[in-house]
Amino acid sequence: MKLGKYSLGMGDRFGRQGKAQLAALRKAKEAGVAVTPVWNKSHREHTIIGTEPADVRREADEAVAACAWDGAYFVDADHISLANVDGFVEASDFFTLDVAEIIGRPAGKEKVDAFVSRHRDLVGTLRMDGSATTFEIAVSDLRAIASKYLAAVHEAGRIHRHIASRKGAGRFVTEVSMDETDTPQTPVELLVILAAICDEGIAAQTVAPRFSGRFNKGVDYVGDVRRFAWEFEQDLAVVGYAVREFGLPDDLKLSIHSGSDKFSIYEPIQDALRKFDAGLHLKTAGTTWLEELIGLALAGGEGLAIAKEVFGRAVTRMEELCGPYATVIDIDPTRLPDPRLVANWDGALFAQALRHNPFCSCYNPHFRQLLHVGYKIAAEMGSRFTEALDRYQDIIAGQVTANLYDRHIRPLFID
Ligand SMILES: [Zn+2]
Repeated sequence: MKLGKYSLGMGDRFGRQGKAQLAALRKAKEAGVAVTPVWNKSHREHTIIGTEPADVRREADEAVAACAWDGAYFVDADHISLANVDGFVEASDFFTLDVAEIIGRPAGKEKVDAFVSRHRDLVGTLRMDGSATTFEIAVSDLRAIASKYLAAVHEAGRIHRHIASRKGAGRFVTEVSMDETDTPQTPVELLVILAAICDEGIAAQTVAPRFSGRFNKGVDYVGDVRRFAWEFEQDLAVVGYAVREFGLPDDLKLSIHSGSDKFSIYEPIQDALRKFDAGLHLKTAGTTWLEELIGLALAGGEGLAIAKEVFGRAVTRMEELCGPYATVIDIDPTRLPDPRLVANWDGALFAQALRHNPFCSCYNPHFRQLLHVGYKIAAEMGSRFTEALDRYQDIIAGQVTANLYDRHIRPLFID
């Protein structure tokens, strides 16, 4: 199963924007760039919303049929582990094996020794195609990195074999993710991780490392852009090396999680992809749900009332809502607008405060991040919320498509 050079992971919390999302990929196709749609939803998100993997499959199939999309598309079991993968096996054909929690767990001295002797060729000076810098790796480095990551890769192997035994080998796309952890992985660590992935027999097509800097939900990258650009290029060089030297699938590529809205790094990413002629999987993060809120606000009436209510209630339940996302949001409560003032805003002002336009003086990233995690409140509204989505679908769909195409696909893959 081929994912294609460029692919876009799209979330859709309430399962109604599949067609509007696909319209953005159709625009890319018309502009001459193929981007494969991947609908993803994690176990965490299913639990909070009250949906099941089969709902995502149904939405994807319906959107693809309605839009007469003739390209490949996938349904991603996002951030799964052995504990919850079974519920996803039937509906998904893309699996993101999340083993970040296992990083640092001891793998056993024998296994580390065997790994180090098997990969002696990594010791010394390594030159990567397309990269000016060389890697100097000592035996002690190799041993230290293996000790840190081998157990995690072994766990990925267990999940991969489990899925393969139920679905059949080669009948799904595999991603290995280690992004939800505090310490970034260096390019050398990524190299060792890929060697271990190969040893483990995992036919990984994407790998999601933890990059340096903060990838907060729904807002721009926070960190040193030049350092990120350097690291990203090194990682691309490492992936190319791993494909040639370890024999990993030749379409193996990097995956960036929480990749939506990271406007300040899109240009360096695009430059690097061109330099290495490399592909990319970009996972967006709740950016579509925020466009639903913007559409509701712009619609006015009951739509605007719901948007304001979600914010008002989110302010009073901030701790509870932010808890599961603590490592991927940074909200300064003193910079949130007063809900009593928001109650008097018109739809245009609400939309401007929420829409991710860094050049607009009304844009408020704290407001945006709180609403990002506020989807639980909308889920609790039940049919009142989903009926509003249906009623104002035209205006919402326009926002969803424009956000994905103008703010994401174009600057990353086209312009
Ligand atoms: Zn992730």
